Amino acid sequence: MDLHQNLINGEWVGGDAAENINPSNTGDVVGTYARASTDDAQAAIAAAKDAFPAWSRSGLLQRWEILSKTAHEIFARKNELGELLSREEGKTLAEGIGEATRAGQIFEFFAGEALRLTGETVPSIRPGVGVEMTREPVGVVGIITPWNFPIAIPAWKIAPALCYGNTVVFKPADLVPGCSWAIVEMLHRHGLPKGVLNLVMGRGSVVGQTMLDSRDIAAMTFTGSVNTGRKVAEASVKVMRKFQLEMGGKNPTLVLDDADLKVAVESVAQSAFFSTGQRCTASSRVIVTEGIHDAFVEALAERTKNLRVGDALAKDTEIGPVVDSSQLKQDMDYIDIGQSEGATLKVGGQRLNRETEGFYLQPALFTGVHNDMRIAREEIFGPVAAVIKVKDYEEGLAVANDTEFGLSSGIVTTSLKYATHFKRNAEAGMVMVNVPTAGVDFHVPFGGRKGSSYGPKEQGKYAAEFFTQVKTAYTAAG
Ligand code: NAD
Repeated sequence: MDLHQNLINGEWVGGDAAENINPSNTGDVVGTYARASTDDAQAAIAAAKDAFPAWSRSGLLQRWEILSKTAHEIFARKNELGELLSREEGKTLAEGIGEATRAGQIFEFFAGEALRLTGETVPSIRPGVGVEMTREPVGVVGIITPWNFPIAIPAWKIAPALCYGNTVVFKPADLVPGCSWAIVEMLHRHGLPKGVLNLVMGRGSVVGQTMLDSRDIAAMTFTGSVNTGRKVAEASVKVMRKFQLEMGGKNPTLVLDDADLKVAVESVAQSAFFSTGQRCTASSRVIVTEGIHDAFVEALAERTKNLRVGDALAKDTEIGPVVDSSQLKQDMDYIDIGQSEGATLKVGGQRLNRETEGFYLQPALFTGVHNDMRIAREEIFGPVAAVIKVKDYEEGLAVANDTEFGLSSGIVTTSLKYATHFKRNAEAGMVMVNVPTAGVDFHVPFGGRKGSSYGPKEQGKYAAEFFTQVKTAYTAAG
């Protein structure tokens, strides 16, 4: 099978290789992808540094054109890219095509943003002096991404980095290099000058660590686990670079007595189980007031039992496989932990056999959970939901906020009073009223609070906060 190589200083470069395996069918090799060495990563950083002066002063039309052509190619190839995504990560085909489309929308949005950058001009407090505030690119941006959104997260970091005139060293997750390789190949073909975008696929401990240790990376944007995020923070502080972290979640959905039962069940089923629960915004704590608790649990158990788990590419699949064997083990371990802590496994939680060898798991629903149990406190990152019964809204809000994380927080209610209060008081970067905790727009800020995130928000025009730096210039009129 052809080797998909790394892109360093405008050249495709080989080296060690690894197979990209389909979690729906472990006999299916999606492709062979190069694994960069420390030397490769250093060469990529040097190339990005050399390319920065010219790219940071490049014409906006050139940036707009490359990003826009890439967006349109992604739209035209969304079915093929969606299939690639589903094969390498295990999301259903509909989810894969949806995510590929999202990547196109993000490139289209930032193509436009390249033309919309503004500054400010104000009079100085000193007569005859003018003050200008402008945004400038930061320099070489290091991008490190996780496996669970193989095309959308690379897109929402690469597009703004390039749009604002930065050069890039990009390391995708080792498990899912396919979609990343595809978008880098497009950007390269659409005319990015050499060294502006460098792709170094491979291991976090080798490629990622080399990036973290480099003094030539001026800003590091990271999405992934809390443990790795901490390493990114420590290394970045050591070299005094700008950094941005998006990490884990333990997102609550609060279901109140006055909720529409159908809306509540569908919202929670989607939030907790779709994309196999492998979303940082997935809802894994379902906090339910006592009046609706029993009816809600019965209806959700019925929905959970009937979720169709299967090959990501099969037409009627609602839930694809878990991404790999170690994530499956983690999910199964937490299902054991939940039971040993005294929670009731109401439905699901068993490994499933399908026609092909894959990592299939029936989504699990726990009831009788207390918020101090490990399954209510630690991120599982699988299709496992924990129902916590509370007396009323006030107790529900307190439980929702009682977590070290703060990414997305949901409420299902028909009460304007509670919805309004929740929007103001939920300790999360994103609040969802009668919509799932997962599923966001691409033109508005994305990100969390507390232990989930660090630094400026991503996406929309707020992305400029991270990918640019402000300069204040004073000019005497003379
Ligand atoms: P991970 O931390 O294991 O890996 C993330 C990336 O870091 C990968 O590219 C990996 O190779 C790299 N890495 C690993 N060790 C490194 C090191 N020492 N130095 C530099 N880079 C290193 O996370 P994952 O398992 O790929 O992703 C799952 C996690 O991502 C979950 O915790 C999930 O909540 C989180 N996530 C968060 C968001 C968000 O926006 N908040 C979105 C998606 C996923």
